[in-house]
Amino acid sequence: EATVTGTHTVTPTHCPYCALQCGMGIATGTNGPPAIAARRFPVNDGALCVKGWTSADLLRSPARLTTPLVRGRDGLRPASWDAALDLIADRLTRLRAGHGPDSVAVFGGGGLTNEVCYLLGKFARVALGTSQIDYNGRFCMSSAAAAANRAYGMDRGLPFPVADLRAADTIVLAGSNPAETMPPFMRHLAPCADSGGLIVIDPRTTPTAERAAVHLRPAPGTDLALALGILHCVVEDGHLDKDYLAGRTTGFADAWRAAAAWWPERVERVTGVAVADQRAVAGRLAGARNAYILTGRGAEQHAKGTDTVSAWINLALALGLPGRAGSGHGCLTGQGNGQGGREHGQKADQLPGYRSIRDPAAREHVARVWGVDPGTLPGPGRSAYELLDALGTADGPRALLVFGSNVAVSAPRSTRVRDRLAALDLLVVADIVRSETAAMADVVLPVTQWAEEGGTMTNLEGRVLLRRRAVAPPPGVRSDLAVLHGLATRLGQPAERFPTDPETVFTELREAARGGPADYHGVTYDRLRAGDQLFWPVPGTDHPGTPRPFLDRFAHPDGRARFVPVTHRPPDEPADADYPLRATTGRVLAHYQSGAQTRNIDALTAAEPEMFVEVHPDTARRHGLDDGEPAVVVSRRGRVRATVRFTPTARVDTVFLPFHFPGDHRANLVTNPALDPVSRMPEFKVCAVRLEAVPPG
Ligand code: SF4
Repeated sequence: EATVTGTHTVTPTHCPYCALQCGMGIATGTNGPPAIAARRFPVNDGALCVKGWTSADLLRSPARLTTPLVRGRDGLRPASWDAALDLIADRLTRLRAGHGPDSVAVFGGGGLTNEVCYLLGKFARVALGTSQIDYNGRFCMSSAAAAANRAYGMDRGLPFPVADLRAADTIVLAGSNPAETMPPFMRHLAPCADSGGLIVIDPRTTPTAERAAVHLRPAPGTDLALALGILHCVVEDGHLDKDYLAGRTTGFADAWRAAAAWWPERVERVTGVAVADQRAVAGRLAGARNAYILTGRGAEQHAKGTDTVSAWINLALALGLPGRAGSGHGCLTGQGNGQGGREHGQKADQLPGYRSIRDPAAREHVARVWGVDPGTLPGPGRSAYELLDALGTADGPRALLVFGSNVAVSAPRSTRVRDRLAALDLLVVADIVRSETAAMADVVLPVTQWAEEGGTMTNLEGRVLLRRRAVAPPPGVRSDLAVLHGLATRLGQPAERFPTDPETVFTELREAARGGPADYHGVTYDRLRAGDQLFWPVPGTDHPGTPRPFLDRFAHPDGRARFVPVTHRPPDEPADADYPLRATTGRVLAHYQSGAQTRNIDALTAAEPEMFVEVHPDTARRHGLDDGEPAVVVSRRGRVRATVRFTPTARVDTVFLPFHFPGDHRANLVTNPALDPVSRMPEFKVCAVRLEAVPPG
């Protein structure tokens, strides 16, 4: 609970940004604005990154929205809450009556609290009756989630506490750069890195790669082949854990048959990673007492992302790592509530408790909790990009309600997405600032942010956290829960079906999630307030939680993990004579996601003020470009303006674009929306581009 010292009250809470969800305090008092205070918490030990330390600036940002806005002939104009909500409800009612419930769509976010995610899914399926709901987590870790589900029967990003990594002697990080994306996490890698056991797989030489004893730089889009090559080395060099395979897994023979065509020499030709290096990684993993394989967006954001993660899981299973004390495999989730955001029903194909919307028993259970007929619940809807791509088309949604997401910047093939948003009859955006998506909206609703509202978040370890309200929201601002309540009641729903108090919503969420894979039944606000460390599943209020769910058995009915046969295929869009380079995208230390929050913080914009493109100096000079000069990165889908940043460690065939900047500087102007067939993840991480100088004048 909050502590009072002198003139200050310090309220314990968590950072508004990434999935590590560092513990912090917010100091409030009579002598100045809210300030961030260090707080010891297991994931961050009192440390924060620059984003966390400056996060109090968000609370007093001059960019903050404090009144609803409604579009008139001369643009967005202030309106009362009643006028804004009445207008939305009226337009939604007409659209549903004229074109059916699927004419209205909802888009959620991985930064929303569990309570908002839950009520958003219920609002879509009960108040709107639409199947058309998905969220930006589809762009984040959906392929890792799909791969974990098929291998283990359950997806919990890290099925172990991050502190377990401190005892590892070998850790493979495939496509992750936590030194920039979640710096305090590096504390958990430090013992392994200090003793020479950190292996980083990344085409870029990131600050994380600089800490590694081994840095492999495969060509973008070839991680799957690399994992298969290392698996070959494991088998050929006699490192297979045969007892583990026999006792805890099924399907190795089929997976090995599929992998057989990817022998190390062939993998070297495809990836550029030498056979000796593949063999060395296999040997290090096999010789380790405690070893982990962790994947991030670099491996996952591909049109073959699910199979790529499956290849890394197959390797981990071949070595007997998952579900063994002190070893394992996991995915480093990115967004603040990326984990909880995918568990509570804002995903197109899922109901609360991480249940399939196709499962009749799950539909019946959730419908009972919601007090509706299971037959009225819609089925699965379109995935995030498919939903955006269909907006305003003949059979697509005509209205879109966006909560906590800035799709005009963050979705792939940005020009197309903006065109589809512009084609809507009604675009409603609930946000804290006038994001690029809000600027296109017909109605903008100003909502509360992290420290102004209570709620729970679930971090990358599956640890459920209480985010306490520490400051009062500005006058005129409402919570997302209050917005959903206001809309639902105007659409004819009983008021009590859409509560506005987070704890009341969470009590219902616990019932809806009860018995599901993500069972929150035993998590209560009182237990969280008392400091219990609760990792789901928590099936009862006397249950201690499950920090390491796979130690005895995996979640498939037979308790065994599944090898999944996968084979490499090239990126969707290979480089060619017109577009000879590859572009890859990612984050920088000072910014977060689309930048809607961090671009409004002076210290962060001072640290990283403008869009840049990392280019090897030889590549830049070949294109007549010098360090610091403006350039255009061109793909078949668009053109991004960026300042050239000479990067001698870059691959000569690859440029890197951060995705935090708006307007002509959106990295997603060039990205490829080719979708993974399993998870519907777009291919953010590799597309074919060329570099051009900016013509004079
Ligand atoms: Fe916030 Fe993530 Fe930085 Fe921690 S690492 S302070 S959670 S942005």
